[in-house]
Amino acid sequence: MEWIQSERGGRKLLLGGYMYVKQKDLADGYEGFECELRRNTRQCRAKIKVMGDNQFRDRTEHNHPPNHGRSNATKVKAATKRRATESNERPQQVLMATLCEVTEEGRAALPSLNNMRRNIRRQRQENPNALPIPMTVEDLEIPVDQRLTLGGELFLYHDSGRNDPRRILVFTTARNLQDRF
Ligand SMILES: [Zn+2]
Repeated sequence: MEWIQSERGGRKLLLGGYMYVKQKDLADGYEGFECELRRNTRQCRAKIKVMGDNQFRDRTEHNHPPNHGRSNATKVKAATKRRATESNERPQQVLMATLCEVTEEGRAALPSLNNMRRNIRRQRQENPNALPIPMTVEDLEIPVDQRLTLGGELFLYHDSGRNDPRRILVFTTARNLQDRF
């Protein structure tokens, strides 16, 4: 049994090439999950009862074959999104870490590398507050929208770059410099 974060903030169960979403809490302490195809299109009625993270019972049959590639791709996409929003790593580093989990079938169900890199940047812009406090000056990555003043002027005036071991960041505006000198 594997679990990933669903788009809506709940959890999604991956089991045997099938994906399940939560339906409801059951009286006996189990949680009722149903095939995501039932939720999405009402085409499959398969259900499963889950206790905690690795116990289940009463699994019913699906009316479609399992899709291991899609399951794997979904898992990798969720891991990538999580790493994108919780680390300061460059997109390439995020992908190197998460793509090692990809199976051959999963690869076919994933977007292109360029699209995945674009998704990482988008996810970061949508969740700017999820970035952790950088431990070193190389880790520091300032989101694009936070490089400007409220008036829209460039405030990160100069950055010698993350590859510079003696990195220098200059925060000021052009107008500020003029006033000073
Ligand atoms: Zn199903």
